[in-house]
Amino acid sequence: MNNNLKCTAVLLAAGKGSRMNSDVYKQFLLINQKPVLYYSLQCFETSSLIDDIVLVTGKDMIEQCQRIIEEYQFTKVSAIVPGGKERYDSVYKGLLSCKDTDYVFIHDGARPFVTHDILKRCFEAVKLTGACVTGIPSKDTVKLSDEEGFVKDTPDRRNVWIIQTPQVFSYPLITNAHKKIREEGTEGITDDAMIIERVTDVPVKLAEGSYENIKITTPEDIAVAEAFLKRLDQN
Ligand code: C5P
Repeated sequence: MNNNLKCTAVLLAAGKGSRMNSDVYKQFLLINQKPVLYYSLQCFETSSLIDDIVLVTGKDMIEQCQRIIEEYQFTKVSAIVPGGKERYDSVYKGLLSCKDTDYVFIHDGARPFVTHDILKRCFEAVKLTGACVTGIPSKDTVKLSDEEGFVKDTPDRRNVWIIQTPQVFSYPLITNAHKKIREEGTEGITDDAMIIERVTDVPVKLAEGSYENIKITTPEDIAVAEAFLKRLDQN
């Protein structure tokens, strides 16, 4: 509990690893003998900012989640709910399962390296307007293309951020925005901030994530994640 503000993590683990060339849900692949999902659960479990965790997963993975929770003795998971077809469907189901909360930390279970410092930065940022996303300044120049694959524009790199999760919102703001976008159309929605951008005038604050806060997407990412863990162990 923080200044009497209740914070809930909505942890997403309902996506199948289509880019993993495998039918296994990528959150359950192992990094150093522990499931990918373990690492973010551990971060939220041990954060003094987070009161409870709503875990969203595949219908057929609920038992496996229960086993992980028992094995590692996580105590903050208040619900495990089945996800939906698209990421925003899973988020919506998670939001509807939150109980009396002020802020929601929506996080990809496929990002194992979220840290307490990132959560703290998000919490400070979300208090400004009720909406914040984690990101890192782009190291590379980014170009926008047209449909034929020609360069259309080059945004100023100082203003280009690569977006990660957590994305943190006031609970009523994000829940109402999700309801509204379902009426207006969800075409092209890839993250939660986009929903706020489309259906509200609320400014979304950027909070600094980290270059290690990667999303496990392809098989190479498991090797990268193991290398990060090895380095953390050595420090
Ligand atoms: O597919 P993508 O890499 O964008 O998924 C990001 C996160 O959203 C993952 O943690 C994945 O499990 C979750 N997700 C979900 N439900 C879906 C699709 C993705 O919970 N239908």
